[in-house]
Amino acid sequence: MSLIVQKFGGSSVANSERIFNVAGIISRAYLNGDDIIAVVSAQGDTTDNFIRMADEINPHGSKREMDVLLSAGEQVSMSLLAMAIEKLGYPVVSLLGWQAGFLTCATYGNAKIEKINTDRIKKELDKKNIVIVAGFQGLNTYGDITTLGRGGSDTSAVALAAVLNADKCKIYTDVDGVFTADPRRVKNAKKLDVISYDEMLELSTLGAQVLNNYSVEVAKKHNVEIEVLSSMNDIPGTIIKEVTQSEKVPICGIAADENVAMVSVTNIPDKPGAAFKLFSKLAAKGINVDIILQSENGKNLKDISFTIPKCQLDDSLEILNKYIENLENTKIIYEENVSKVSIVGTGMENQVGIASKMFEALYEEKINIQMIATSEIRVSVIICSGEVDQALNAIHNKFFGTVNTTL
Ligand code: ADP
Ligand code: ASP
Ligand code: MG
Repeated sequence: MSLIVQKFGGSSVANSERIFNVAGIISRAYLNGDDIIAVVSAQGDTTDNFIRMADEINPHGSKREMDVLLSAGEQVSMSLLAMAIEKLGYPVVSLLGWQAGFLTCATYGNAKIEKINTDRIKKELDKKNIVIVAGFQGLNTYGDITTLGRGGSDTSAVALAAVLNADKCKIYTDVDGVFTADPRRVKNAKKLDVISYDEMLELSTLGAQVLNNYSVEVAKKHNVEIEVLSSMNDIPGTIIKEVTQSEKVPICGIAADENVAMVSVTNIPDKPGAAFKLFSKLAAKGINVDIILQSENGKNLKDISFTIPKCQLDDSLEILNKYIENLENTKIIYEENVSKVSIVGTGMENQVGIASKMFEALYEEKINIQMIATSEIRVSVIICSGEVDQALNAIHNKFFGTVNTTL
């Protein structure tokens, strides 16, 4: 008998038919004699719709109340899924995050899991119940509901698999696995059989939505092997695990992140400590700075440009406007119509010419690069948002050719 953690994303439980499809997957695994914990997300676009509803009432609503609202979607899907399983005739119980023992740090909206008290889940499994858990949510030290950041149900599932030492952690979604690029944007994208934790972490941090990046971090830390697979068919998905040096490929995938803004602070007095003062203020408010460029600007002045998540632009501008208050000629310029396109691969460091191949693909499409950043396992460029699909396809063709695959 094995313990299996399954996770079903929003599109897998989007309507009654899909809920019964998922109930079937769970029941078949249960009939195999295994203990089953199924983590669910909110149905379809529920979470996005909640954000829109909140915006209509109060765009500056507190993060605490946002978490109360956003966590409600998972409560609906878990109960409906449990009722579908009841109808199929199997014993089942659904648990909210706090009932399942998820304790998090105090941060609303992007909480980290600190502990999972598994007593209740274990009791339910001992009673031979299928356990449905609401993903994406926990309880903080104030007894308040917190959420784990967008896409956080993946993390709920991986964290449960880690603490319960599950035999399998299966993340069911609406594509067949992890592809070399988003298969909805790149028609020649290929499904990967295996990908390393490091590569998956980089891809998901750089915009590949298929797995939440915090979930990959948790999986790597606790060595939880994940399978990402489709809930719509019965074919093997992609395994995410530790990969040996010999299995490493130069490029495993391409990702795009459209939640990017580019900010330039110009005419900063060129003195030691200028960059420190600027970035320490942003860091203190949790602004996530990525690519940074500094250039001289004539006499004893410099310009610093950097990228941040678009959703943190307002907070950043507030901080920067305070920073430049006493600097006579310093100005702030920002651009929201930009995106980050990145190639990722742990084998990249041993190969020359990878970055230039990417730049060549962009040049052939006449796409202008506004910024570049590299590390041992990635090359990222900032380009105009309207050119992302063209860039993804051109870079993909350059590295992976044009062999067609189906979704
Ligand atoms: P779920 O609701 O199951 O959590 P998500 O929408 O969060 O699903 O993630 C699945 C989506 O991720 C896919 O529909 C696909 O468009 C997108 N995606 C982005 N990059 C990739 C990739 N490299 N491989 C597979 N899917 C990707
Ligand atoms: N429902 C949440 C979201 O849309 C969590 C998840 O889907 O994993 O972000
Ligand atoms: Mg998701």
